[in-house]
Amino acid sequence: MGFTVIEWRGLPKIRVRNTLGNRVEEFHPLEPGIVRMYVCGPTVYDHMHIGHARTYVAFDAIKRYLQLRGYSVFHVQNITDIDDKIIRKANEEGRDWREIVDRYSKDYFEMLRSLGITVDIHPRVTDHISEIIEFIEGLIEKGHAYVAPSGSVYFDVTTYPHYGELSGRVHPEQWRQEEDVLREKRHPFDFALWKAWKPGEPYWESPWGRGRPGWHIECSVMSSRYLGEQFDIHGGGQDLVFPHHENERAQSESYFGKRPWVRYWLHTGYLTISGEKMSKSLGNIIPANEAIRKWGPRVLRLWLLSAHYRTQLDFSEEALEQARSTLARIEAAAEAVERLLAEAEPEASLRGERLEQTRSLLDAYYAFHEAMSSDFNTARALAAVMEAVRVVNRQTLPSESYTGAAIAARLFAEFNHVFNVLGKRAATEGPFEQLVELLVKVRSELRRRKMFDLADEIRSELGQLGIQLMDYPGGKTVWRLTKKD
Ligand code: AMP
Ligand code: ZN
Repeated sequence: MGFTVIEWRGLPKIRVRNTLGNRVEEFHPLEPGIVRMYVCGPTVYDHMHIGHARTYVAFDAIKRYLQLRGYSVFHVQNITDIDDKIIRKANEEGRDWREIVDRYSKDYFEMLRSLGITVDIHPRVTDHISEIIEFIEGLIEKGHAYVAPSGSVYFDVTTYPHYGELSGRVHPEQWRQEEDVLREKRHPFDFALWKAWKPGEPYWESPWGRGRPGWHIECSVMSSRYLGEQFDIHGGGQDLVFPHHENERAQSESYFGKRPWVRYWLHTGYLTISGEKMSKSLGNIIPANEAIRKWGPRVLRLWLLSAHYRTQLDFSEEALEQARSTLARIEAAAEAVERLLAEAEPEASLRGERLEQTRSLLDAYYAFHEAMSSDFNTARALAAVMEAVRVVNRQTLPSESYTGAAIAARLFAEFNHVFNVLGKRAATEGPFEQLVELLVKVRSELRRRKMFDLADEIRSELGQLGIQLMDYPGGKTVWRLTKKD
């Protein structure tokens, strides 16, 4: 109908599901064009596992999508470098706690680097002790905290009327039931801001004697130190909603006297194995460095993003194998499109175009953005990209399809801006890809030696297996998978 060939529309508004209120809301940062994001980082007492990787890759992709949409994103992700678990591990090994911290923060940074996760600032708790003390003093002055006889300081949850709103877990009846846990705390849900020193533990001097910070206070202090008293996104795994984030929110809104402290609370679902949360305490972890070695960082990253960040993602070898072949297919299609763009003649634009194909590619482009704008749904976004791969593969785009190729190239580039999985290494990452590359190389050599019979046989045998070889002028051969899904 009509003569609209293609229609270039605006991109959809970004909507996010806010854990606070469990509502989908339009995304509007406090300051136009700028997004301030804080993600709770690791406690560095052991190797990173792929559950950690899931959460950090998810927020990296969220950040990348916001950047793609023109926001300047400032991303802070802390390192908890003093904690019961670190002290316990140091005691078990008979080493200084700082050694433990050094060893495992190295492991964490290696994981970030190989998974292509970028963070702007990694603040550490022990570099912020004086600010933490100041914050706690402020809470005491404002009547939100009290010093217990031991020298520990607790937040008084009864002074903050919004306690429990984020997690929805805390009801007054529950408070009464748990009264037997009261010891030096006045209320069962009161939590430690400062922990009094016990022999054998590291300590810092404070107005309440020797001690160290409680866990929750660090994130309130370090987020405001780098992002201000209010900011846009606060993220972490769903296990942090209660008590960690509930407590962070209580102390921050009490201290700054401003609401909301955080505009959007985003939480990742668990990475599970046989349906159980992957965690050190259950002993079912797959270390991130092992997984990276086995499948390669890009395949791992693609798999981690193959589910929406809020849903559960269950590990299986098959799922990773599937991700490997998905990646190879996207890569081959993206390469084919790049080549076409390089060789097509722009002046032919739209003339010999297969309009149906061009429109399907544009639909895929919008479907990608619709999915990403809908609470960063990477699962649906990936499906849109695979649809474009199918269009590209169904029938090689004719060289006249300059516009179609341009749209496809743009989709693959924007996809990669967010997913960050395409690259030269990906095609040669796994044994399968390496084997195909090897056969391609052998065949090129045979052709160079004019042994065309054998070269053609390899080509046709590979073709039967669903691996298509494409020879380009200049002697370069590109391969791709032609099998339907
Ligand atoms: P931790 O070192 O346990 O404090 O965890 C650091 C971050 O990784 C937190 O945001 C956790 O919620 C997240 N995390 C830990 N285990 C998993 C898992 N199995 N799935 C998803 N996120 C996780
Ligand atoms: Zn935190």
